[in-house]
Amino acid sequence: MLTLIPAFQDNYIYLSQTAHGLWIVDPGDAQPVLQYLEQLQRRPTAILCTHHHADHVGGVEQLVEHYRIPVYGHGAQIPRLTQSVNEGSWEIDGESVEVLEIPGHTLDHIAYLWQDLLFCGDTLFAAGCGRIFEGNPAMMYNSLQKLAALPDNTQVCCAHEYTQSNLRFAMAVEPENPAITERTEQVARLRRQGRPSLPSTLQEEKRSNPFLRCGEDRVISAARAHGASADSPVSVFAALRQWKNEFR
Ligand SMILES: [Zn+2]
Repeated sequence: MLTLIPAFQDNYIYLSQTAHGLWIVDPGDAQPVLQYLEQLQRRPTAILCTHHHADHVGGVEQLVEHYRIPVYGHGAQIPRLTQSVNEGSWEIDGESVEVLEIPGHTLDHIAYLWQDLLFCGDTLFAAGCGRIFEGNPAMMYNSLQKLAALPDNTQVCCAHEYTQSNLRFAMAVEPENPAITERTEQVARLRRQGRPSLPSTLQEEKRSNPFLRCGEDRVISAARAHGASADSPVSVFAALRQWKNEFR
């Protein structure tokens, strides 16, 4: 079972029930997690971090003090790290988990694939992607491609509720793509009901996320009109990312 706990303005902290455990993914804030778990009288068994930004790890310290559970992540910037994990298969809390290194947003960014759940932090968003803070466009593009290569039914569990504003941008890139129109309506419905737009599926992302569609003719021409210097996927991606940074 998967639970989304809202935190701050637009973050989600995921709780994932496994056969024998309960994981907390990217606890930027301990308080809402403690509150939720105490209400249900549940004990978590592990913390998984995708990268070092405070809105993803800010609650780790307090949760570890409270529950004394192991912390997984990549590299020394993750607080209270028990096990640094890198690209490959890992046994985490008794489960087989695939770790993917996906640098770009930060250099220590990783994703966890467990069964069909992909915890991808701030790299792939629903209908968008994260900003490039520590890497470069080619790096981010390759990381997104790595995620796009996973099965279509993969559940995209990203860390922010940015879907509506991402879809506005997607619409500006590809106004004639019916998948974007459809998704915009569907997400608006969910949000009106106060429900998260997440997780999405990789299949939905491939149809309506411009950052996974850098090889499509219409996306290429839109990017060319916004500074792409060539038709190569990386220059299309770089132009889209820059355009999105300025898009309102
Ligand atoms: Zn971040």
